[in-house]
Amino acid sequence: MRLRNVSGSREAIARSRFVIQNPTEKKNHWKELFCNSHPIQIEIGMGKGRFIMDMARLHPEINYIGIEKYSSVLIRGIQKMEKEELPNLYFIRMDAEEITDVFGEGEVDKIYLNFSDPWPKDRHAKRRLPSREFLNRYRAILSKEGNLEFKTDNQALFSFALEELEPAGWHLEQVTYDLHSDKNMMEGNVMTEYEERFSSMGNPIYKYIIFPSE
Ligand code: SAM
Repeated sequence: MRLRNVSGSREAIARSRFVIQNPTEKKNHWKELFCNSHPIQIEIGMGKGRFIMDMARLHPEINYIGIEKYSSVLIRGIQKMEKEELPNLYFIRMDAEEITDVFGEGEVDKIYLNFSDPWPKDRHAKRRLPSREFLNRYRAILSKEGNLEFKTDNQALFSFALEELEPAGWHLEQVTYDLHSDKNMMEGNVMTEYEERFSSMGNPIYKYIIFPSE
């Protein structure tokens, strides 16, 4: 995502009631925030929030948390929430590296990674959100039946993500190399901003659904 500094975004985020300001304080207490016991699903690297807002609107029976590292991007999601408040959605501005400080064991029922940054240089592999380092963090917060869904149009990143599964102790539940032609996996698909952009250019979309082994 190209980053243009949006002046005042940090301050607006610090004031926003849609953003959890001290997320580590909510660890093991996220259900209290939503005042219900609905499942909690998170998107890591939500960008401007199109996907997670569409999901929250479609599924009021699920609680959503969108995580984004950069204020200049997150602010766009906040502006949309100001126009259309969704009671089952909150945002966190943070680096996902700290995810285990924010969610307790088994607190998250599903993780979405959509069009994660590829970090093409080998020395940056650990920063890739589907890397084994991140998979270990995700395992620590996922519930027993929890799983993770990853979509991308980046072939190299998808190959890397598949190779990381075995060493990290995860299993494939479903995989497709052309999501938009896969009737089964397209059922209920909600497009992300990047997905719309890249699929309209003719790029195939890769997707897997994975779960951690015991
Ligand atoms: N998910 C959106 C979509 O599919 O349209 C946005 C995709 S964009 C390419 C990736 C987003 O992930 C960027 O907004 C970036 O700032 C965010 N991101 C990358 N690394 C992150 C990290 N470690 N923690 C939180 N967000 C991250």
